[in-house]
Amino acid sequence: MPITVVGSIAYDTVKTPFGARERMLGGAAVHFALAASFFDEVRVVGPVGEDFGEEQLAVLRARNIDVSDVERIEGGKTFFWQGEYGWDLNSRETLDTQLGVFEGFAPKLSEQSRSSDVLFLANIQPDLQREVRSQLPQARFVALDSMNLWIDIARDSLVAAIADVDCVILNDAELRQLTGKPNLVSAAREVLSWSSAESAAGGRGRGPSVIVAKQGEYGAALITREGFFALPAYPLESVIDPTGAGDTFAGGLVGYIAAHPGEKLSDELLRRAMAHATVLASFNVEEFGTERITRLTGKEIVARIGELHAMTQFSGASLELRG
Ligand code: AMP
Repeated sequence: MPITVVGSIAYDTVKTPFGARERMLGGAAVHFALAASFFDEVRVVGPVGEDFGEEQLAVLRARNIDVSDVERIEGGKTFFWQGEYGWDLNSRETLDTQLGVFEGFAPKLSEQSRSSDVLFLANIQPDLQREVRSQLPQARFVALDSMNLWIDIARDSLVAAIADVDCVILNDAELRQLTGKPNLVSAAREVLSWSSAESAAGGRGRGPSVIVAKQGEYGAALITREGFFALPAYPLESVIDPTGAGDTFAGGLVGYIAAHPGEKLSDELLRRAMAHATVLASFNVEEFGTERITRLTGKEIVARIGELHAMTQFSGASLELRG
């Protein structure tokens, strides 16, 4: 099923203990789209400035991503983000964020982008997420990402946006912050209980039924009404740049679900999607920005899925315990 993604298309300046890059191609929508393109057709919606190069668009086109709704704003500047990571890569400081063309951005979706069955609302202003969501009322699967900034300054709008999607993908700390619940499982259960007024009235809104809590190098957890599942991150000895790992993870997850249109959204399907998300994210962090994913092959993904599968199995036989 074709996927539409709306979110940032950016220039990122990044410093990690292993090197630095200036104004490399980045942005949540870009990382998501590259990952999801291994599974299905992807359409990107978002603004760029006059400074955005054809060679950057070519990176997306090379993976057959539809960029016809990437809007170039005359006289505008592309979204810019600058960050620096601590020595173990677990802490990240944002040094600069320049919204550029995102200021005053009103998403215009073509007929094509509006016809997608799957929608990913990457981390942007929740009002914009709701605006885009309303343009795809028939989408069969809608997922959303967000960040602490929007929980701080636009919580009500974010809660309303969440109530109208199927799947929420957040960092575990953000889930706790959003709900005010210190326990991750309780926090996820709370979000599962949110649903839109339209949903209650039997309209198009449904409310979230899938919560994914990203836990960085520790992996990710899946919480649904039916159950719980968790996977560790794929163990890598060399991590170079975690930028975009979360969006790449989302691209793997949502892409895998989109590529299985005939299957019910069961926990079994979601577990396989989590594995693909984990593997895609693991490749992303091996090099700076989009460098590794643009060279990635389907064969490499399949091989790593096999390794992840092997390392997360254990026999169900239990010892007869004393007492
Ligand atoms: P992640 O590492 O998955 O959190 O995503 C990092 C990507 O998100 C970078 O490529 C940035 O360009 C982009 N980004 C950073 N801050 C923001 C923001 N406030 N809004 C939208 N995108 C952002």
